[in-house]
Amino acid sequence: MTERLRVRLPSVFEILKPAVGPSSSHTLGPMLAARDFAKAAAAAVGCRRGGERIRVTLYGSLAFTGRGHLTDLAVAAGLAGYGPRELASRSLGAVAQAVRDAGHIQVDGREMLFDLDRDVVFDVDAENLPHPNTMRLSLLDPGGAAVIEETYYSVGGGRVLGGGLGELRERQNSSGAISMSQVLTECERSGIDLVEYAYRIEETQHGHTRAEVDAHLDEIWGLMQQAMERGLTAEGTLPGFMHLERRAHGLYARFLEALPHFDILSAEASLASIYAIAVAEENAAGGAVVTAPTCGSCGVLPACLRVVQEKLGSSDAAIRRALLVAELIGAMIATNASISGAEVGCQGEIGAASAMSAGAVCLLLGGSARDQVDRAAESALEHYLGLTCDPVGGLVQIPCIERNAAGAVSALHAASLAMISGGVDRVSFDDVVEAMHKTGLDLDARYKETARGGLAVDPDLCDPGAARHR
Ligand code: SF4
Repeated sequence: MTERLRVRLPSVFEILKPAVGPSSSHTLGPMLAARDFAKAAAAAVGCRRGGERIRVTLYGSLAFTGRGHLTDLAVAAGLAGYGPRELASRSLGAVAQAVRDAGHIQVDGREMLFDLDRDVVFDVDAENLPHPNTMRLSLLDPGGAAVIEETYYSVGGGRVLGGGLGELRERQNSSGAISMSQVLTECERSGIDLVEYAYRIEETQHGHTRAEVDAHLDEIWGLMQQAMERGLTAEGTLPGFMHLERRAHGLYARFLEALPHFDILSAEASLASIYAIAVAEENAAGGAVVTAPTCGSCGVLPACLRVVQEKLGSSDAAIRRALLVAELIGAMIATNASISGAEVGCQGEIGAASAMSAGAVCLLLGGSARDQVDRAAESALEHYLGLTCDPVGGLVQIPCIERNAAGAVSALHAASLAMISGGVDRVSFDDVVEAMHKTGLDLDARYKETARGGLAVDPDLCDPGAARHR
């Protein structure tokens, strides 16, 4: 591996990881930040006389859409020591309510006051933030003076920087360091494929053995399938003022009845849509999902993998390899652009998920790295350039759930086209990632997870009294 390629890429443990919905950047990230800060705060309380209070201030996109994304509840759970694994068996709402009722949290035997309804501040006026998802956590003495303060940045996909979790500067410095073209050249020079390359990144940059990586991927695939099964059987409405009806169960039942239009429209495309909606609805309900690369876009990859596995009978070992290629594509986008809707809009979430899935499907279909995987990922992402993030009411429901279905179908289409294409592709994956990044930076803040533009301000959709049945 050349020196240039030693620059750190995110690990598969960071890109594909257990999470709770509805948002990786606005739910999971703040939860992990709060959990990190609570430990530091407990140490700072030490032998003080007591009466210290924790105050959390959310800025930027976290402030604008935090309520719909359950950021305040996630912060409460994080302060109480919860992470996604602990919440797999207990609902976020129940944990937050327990914190609300107690009026304090306890960490390492230290008690700190925390009023969930007063001590989470949504500051929508702050400007010139270092990152659109910024949060400050403070431990205040009984007089209101800060004992310690930490600033955290939720940079997408549940990755958090700040406090004890790494520097924002490190990520900015590494931006633009590794291109897919360099990775492909390195693979050809070393005589290895993308899967082997991904294993070597895990070993050399993150200290993960192959057995650890395989165990993680098996867990991830299991969690993806569980989320899908729950989504396919659950009925009722999703949380939030829209009272949006869950659709995956009914859609699947109608699909199994083999309605006539399946004769002329691809059954695989319909199934991919239904599977993606099932997982996205689980996410919207605050269920246990896997970031791929985010919670908002978590339905795309599992839907594509399941459709291909059912069609081709792919082994779980093959799915493991496909997950690694998907993760590598996601890591490349996260490093060279962004996977945060607050930074670059939905092109960084659904667009990235679709690119990851297209590459993974190509691998399952036997495609080569340079001619098919790269081309499919490029094609899938290209068609999402400029896609805004405009979640209605700050809830990860409209348009997010159906965008997962569209992202899955686009990925299958891009993979299929790449497998039958020949000749030189005029646009590379690296070109599109760069264009996506620039487009995202140019996008007006109203279209980057602030719920201040697009569908998010549609007066009919935003009417809290209007029940939605789609
Ligand atoms: S619109 Fe896209 S980026 Fe925005 S919250 Fe929904 S899925 Fe995430």
